Amino acid sequence: MMSLDDELALRREAMAWLALRTNDGSDAISRDELTRFTFRGERLTLIDQGRGIRKPRECRAALTIMTVFTPSGRRRPYEDVLGADGFPRYKMRAGARSSADNHAVLTAMELQVPVIWLMGVAPSWFQPVYPVYVIGAEPELDQFALAYDAAQTLPLAGSPMEEVIRHYVVRETRQRLHQPVFRSMVMRAYDTQCAVCSLGHSQLLDAAHIVEDSHEAGIAAVRNGLALCKIHHAAYDAGILGISPDLVVGIRYDILAEVDGPLFEHGIKALHGRPLMVLPRRRKDRPAAELLDWRYERFLSA
Ligand SMILES: [Zn+2]
Repeated sequence: MMSLDDELALRREAMAWLALRTNDGSDAISRDELTRFTFRGERLTLIDQGRGIRKPRECRAALTIMTVFTPSGRRRPYEDVLGADGFPRYKMRAGARSSADNHAVLTAMELQVPVIWLMGVAPSWFQPVYPVYVIGAEPELDQFALAYDAAQTLPLAGSPMEEVIRHYVVRETRQRLHQPVFRSMVMRAYDTQCAVCSLGHSQLLDAAHIVEDSHEAGIAAVRNGLALCKIHHAAYDAGILGISPDLVVGIRYDILAEVDGPLFEHGIKALHGRPLMVLPRRRKDRPAAELLDWRYERFLSA
């Protein structure tokens, strides 16, 4: 059995290895690649074939926990994993081998060792979220509470700090969990290309929301997203560039009259009236007309 120091070293190395392969957490990783991690010269898979919880034989605690991809309609892919207090929840395993698996997660809580959460974003593709810590067990609800920091604790219901903590945790969950998962799903749908200009360099691309995620209708499903390069994302958010429900780019009229350098001419003005260059292959991943319409109305009225 590994010492606690070794368990921590393994986790540090696994997280550094993932950072290298995911552009520091911006990109998803395949199931196949997750099996190729090595620790001290030995292959040590980060995902278990057929089980949601991965505890290597030499370890006392779970190393990775996995949430399978569920094709999303209107539902947020992580909706069932969020507690009212903002802390994410991970469902306990059911089935024949479940008690050993659940025990491995409980041990991660007792030892306060970080785990890696593999969030399914497409069949056999995962967005790793790490480090996460198990900060509570709620057996009556068959779930564990997770946090992004070992020092976090679940707020006592009704305590004066409850609302303050909730606000902070909701914001952190959005940054650490929702945004990377949304980004991965949008990038996969658009084949890592800007919908407007087809630029294909991952580091210059964002997953933009059609309806902002702070808005009630701002669901984090791919159909509310667009892969946009940094310049077109900024232009879209600034109301310089609009996308009509029939997927045609419009440029604001006062901008069309402006004269500037080549990027402005070719990268902005020349797009007026052109259809989107890249769309998801799967029909249900394409931008929803009613969401585009809502946003386009605001573009036209600006
Ligand atoms: Zn672009």
